[in-house]
Amino acid sequence: MTTLLVRHAERVVTMDDSHPQIFDGGVFIRDNVIQQVAPTDELPATADRVIEARGQIVLPGLINTHHHLFQSLTRAYPPAQNAGVSQWIEALAPLWDRLTPDGLYLASKAGLAELLLSGCTTTADHLYYLPPACRVADEIAAVEEIGMRLHLCIGQSPPPASLFGSIEHAEVLRLGSETIEQFHDSNRLAMNRVALTGSLMFDPPDLQRKLIELADTFKVRLHSHMGETAGQAQACLDRFGHRLVEHAEAVGWLGENVWYAHGVHLNLSEIRMLAKTGTGIAHCPSSNMRLGSGIAPIVSMLHEGVPLSLGVDGSASNDSSHMLAELRQALLLQRVANGPDTISAETVFWMGTVGGARVLGRDDLGRLAPGMAADLVSFDLEILDFAGALHDPLAALVFCAPQKVAWSIVNGVMRVWEGEIVGLDLGDLLRRHRQASRALLDG
Ligand SMILES: [Zn+2]
Repeated sequence: MTTLLVRHAERVVTMDDSHPQIFDGGVFIRDNVIQQVAPTDELPATADRVIEARGQIVLPGLINTHHHLFQSLTRAYPPAQNAGVSQWIEALAPLWDRLTPDGLYLASKAGLAELLLSGCTTTADHLYYLPPACRVADEIAAVEEIGMRLHLCIGQSPPPASLFGSIEHAEVLRLGSETIEQFHDSNRLAMNRVALTGSLMFDPPDLQRKLIELADTFKVRLHSHMGETAGQAQACLDRFGHRLVEHAEAVGWLGENVWYAHGVHLNLSEIRMLAKTGTGIAHCPSSNMRLGSGIAPIVSMLHEGVPLSLGVDGSASNDSSHMLAELRQALLLQRVANGPDTISAETVFWMGTVGGARVLGRDDLGRLAPGMAADLVSFDLEILDFAGALHDPLAALVFCAPQKVAWSIVNGVMRVWEGEIVGLDLGDLLRRHRQASRALLDG
């Protein structure tokens, strides 16, 4: 049993309603669980490891609820730079289909490293299509080396049929159940969980039903995209005669155990249906801007009580895995649509922590409080980028230019120290990543 004490932080942001921020505070951890969050003078005097956090802000680790890690070898790909979603996927899908096991490992590892350095400690990854040469274990190896908490969403959504042909339903279900059996941990404080994914618009109803049955059997969650573009919303009307959320209800894909990325093109009655059923939305503002998809009605979703979180999406539609930057984009984009007084730094911070935990079904993440997972991060405050903003350090993090963490603890383990990922040869990773990216683009 080991103990860790963080003390003298300029500010501790707990996300706990009773004392949301503590001045000159700290956190006492035993193994992988938080024991106490309090002003420094109320904490134990020592521990096996003591971290002096003077001049720093300490926060719960950020939670990313939508990503496609495998895409990080294909960022800023010229034929997809100025394309909307459909042309973008047509340009990129043939590259992803050629991914090698090492390519998936390196893409995942680089994306995870970027996330970790940006304050993220838990990520979902939407592996909606496993390239033929790859295995889920190729990605899991990278996740375990970086040490991040993972919610892996696994499936074989039909890619454009003209590109790869159709996929056997039995194969989709086999991949889902095998991945759950190998990697899903339903226990509290789990490092790896698995969710199932399908395509709301393209999967036939019998497959959608079977995926729900499989999710029920294993008590795992369901995840997909919804309403990313106006074209998708219209296609749903044309094909099924009703709107997207009505369609999701008809096929059984609404509920507390379901979350969708985007939700850009939903109307008020659809938003109310999401709120009523407890269906979550992962808001991905950078991706929505990058692909010209639109502005998701987040202020309205907040007002109606939709479970809301944030996702960096990508990596080829963002083209960044910087979680703190995503909080800032969420704040700025809603203000473009709704005005400056409709969303605050506290609200986007809530979406990136407590909101993310709820959307992923985690009662052990998103806050710093006794009994919660020891996932916490720290940013240096006394830097040029925050000069003049230190009267409100939390607002500085969101309003000023996005920074990298000073240190990061995941599950009680120090994963970043003095701005560097512990045990990672970053130069070697970048060299191998660059070679894999070049090989993929060269075919
Ligand atoms: Zn996505």
